[in-house]
Amino acid sequence: MMKSVATLGSHCALQLLKGANDEKLNTILICEKRRERLYKRFNFIDKIILVDSFNEILKKEYSKKLDNSILIPHGTLISQLSSNEIESINIPIFGNKWILRWESDRIKKEKLLKKANIPTPKRILTPSQICKLSIIKRDGAAGGAGYFLASNEMEYKKKLSNLINKKTINKNDKLYIQEYISGVLVYLQYFYSPTKNELEFLGIDQRHESNIDGLSRIPASNQNKINKELTFNVIGNSPMVLRESLLDEVYSIGERFIEASKKLVNPGIIGPFCIEGVYDSNANFTAFEFSARIVAGTNVYINGSPYSALLYNENMSMGRRIAKEIRESISNDNLSKIIS
Ligand code: AMP
Repeated sequence: MMKSVATLGSHCALQLLKGANDEKLNTILICEKRRERLYKRFNFIDKIILVDSFNEILKKEYSKKLDNSILIPHGTLISQLSSNEIESINIPIFGNKWILRWESDRIKKEKLLKKANIPTPKRILTPSQICKLSIIKRDGAAGGAGYFLASNEMEYKKKLSNLINKKTINKNDKLYIQEYISGVLVYLQYFYSPTKNELEFLGIDQRHESNIDGLSRIPASNQNKINKELTFNVIGNSPMVLRESLLDEVYSIGERFIEASKKLVNPGIIGPFCIEGVYDSNANFTAFEFSARIVAGTNVYINGSPYSALLYNENMSMGRRIAKEIRESISNDNLSKIIS
């Protein structure tokens, strides 16, 4: 019987393994040697498996070492391994590993959000069609490196050639252009239990992204003196609550996402996911992104969130919620419903 929870040492590993320990599951950390000193400080980690690089988990010997474990995917797994590699991992993965490909592919991502009837920023098909402030995204850019803003084709071409010269963007990189939405950014954290067929809304965070967030501290007339490319590198997160009148729609967005995922990526989303978007001045929500797994913004709620407190009488982090689902599925003999 599987009873260890394993994850890569980064992103939200501490939250995940603390949660698993709270749920009385064994915990295993796959850890790069350079990070061993950090993770050894935490006594809820039962076993550390040292690697030179995370893609070693693709080797056969690791599936033996991780026998009896369930791997919890997070952002580092997605950024370090390709979709093909993730799908080929021999260790059972918590959640639906096939949907991770939909997270990594911008066109698929847009398709899923549209299927869920969740408003998305308008996609601009060619640079000549840029007629208002737009954001240009490089495929798979971690931390928004190589993203830029442009209001027309000329600005687009100028900025692009500048970024190519600086080697931030490669000439052959696939670029995706979408309307820039100005407003309040929110990252909505959900958990879907397929065994109970229940959606839980567990929290909201905000991201602090450098250097874009710093710009608002500088008068517009001085902003062009910052001799740096615009970046959206997440430095940290902070908690947030929404106006209660917006909550009903938040649940509805989550439910529509679940339904759409069931239609497009069988068996649909399992466990944690995050819908990331903007509320404009009329409090209308537009989603520019989703994550089909736990997001690092859940780390602000290791002791539970204002929303988890409404559902549970114990401190329920997203990491612990995952572990609880695993523990209960083991007891009820339906683990196959939550792993892939
Ligand atoms: P993403 O890689 O799509 O998560 O985007 C990284 C960051 O870029 C987000 O956290 C936002 O700050 C910003 N961003 C992305 N798309 C948009 C958009 N359409 N409108 C406004 N900001 C955006």
